[in-house]
Amino acid sequence: MTQRIAVIPGDGIGPEVARIGVRVLESLGLPLQFDWFDFGADRYLRDRTTLPAGFMDTLRREYAAIYFGAVGDPRVPGNEHAKGILLAMRFELDLYINLRPCILIDDRLSPLKGKGREHLKFVVFRENTEGLYTGTGGVLRQGTADEVAQEVEINTRKGVERILEAAFAYAQQRGLRRVCMADKANVLVFGHGLWRRTFAEVARRHPGIEAKAMYVDALAMDLIRQPEAYEVIVTNNLFGDILTDLGAALTGGLGIAASGNIHPGRVSLFEPVHGSAPDIASQGKANPLAMVLSGALMLEHLGHRREAQRLSGAVEEQVRSGARTPDLVPLLGGPASTTEQVGNELLARVSAAP
Ligand code: ATP
Repeated sequence: MTQRIAVIPGDGIGPEVARIGVRVLESLGLPLQFDWFDFGADRYLRDRTTLPAGFMDTLRREYAAIYFGAVGDPRVPGNEHAKGILLAMRFELDLYINLRPCILIDDRLSPLKGKGREHLKFVVFRENTEGLYTGTGGVLRQGTADEVAQEVEINTRKGVERILEAAFAYAQQRGLRRVCMADKANVLVFGHGLWRRTFAEVARRHPGIEAKAMYVDALAMDLIRQPEAYEVIVTNNLFGDILTDLGAALTGGLGIAASGNIHPGRVSLFEPVHGSAPDIASQGKANPLAMVLSGALMLEHLGHRREAQRLSGAVEEQVRSGARTPDLVPLLGGPASTTEQVGNELLARVSAAP
């Protein structure tokens, strides 16, 4: 049966990398149908549409996945359209898992002395619907010397339990042995106390897996010192945001960092970690590999594991011995190539792969 994919390229470098991502995915010969949507800054500035009414229902009913480029445009104050597009999908489709693999694909990409591929291969499960990112809070007496601003961190038993369970299930399915939870339970005693208690319970349901709870500040230090100690890291929205940027920096940067926004069994969204990078848009400098690797995560979610591995393998080879965009030149050396050149080479590699 054909699986339909909603492609939303978005703004800036989004369309440049999405074009390549889709071409590569199409070359695999899978029964996938790609439908393109023009939501982003241009459309918003034209008719104030973020996502049209009923679009969420269409996604739920007709689509297996969303393949998303990036949103963000300096012409839109505060990028208000991004809230109505990306954040709306994350929340309304209840995409509670933000999955971000931090896996080094070439030793030369590691900024850590003496740490290579065998040391850097952890995956972060970031809670994606609660925490400090729900917009709960308010401001009193704004603009005065007595201004009070409050941001409320939401932690529900259901929300915490399901992200923890997802992290353990992932470890179990892949034969991994360690799950580490990052929190700040020493100061945030109520919310993170809930995380600690729930973690102990969920860990008991997975006796074969070593479960460790750590304070996030200690974990940030230890990820630099001994990243090899970590396989699966699970944490809340804010800490996950920060730790995954650290993870991206440890494994080659934004140009190759992929992510999934997932609700198991439902339509889910796959996107590069980077944003629309307006500074390099329309210059042929964007690295398309993060988008392609996000496509590999999407294929896994859709049940095409072998093809996902074929794509990841081709990206590894590309980084090892192929053309590269300028962002990777300081790490890999050599002349810089354009987005299109890297895309074309990658396409040839994927076609040649067994
Ligand atoms: P946004 O607000 O949309 O997230 P931003 O410019 O703040 O946009 P990013 O878009 O993530 O943040 O980009 C940060 C920097 O990283 C960019 O200025 C760009 O130089 C670099 N960058 C991001 N993505 C890529 C990519 N795919 N290839 C090359 N460089 C990239």
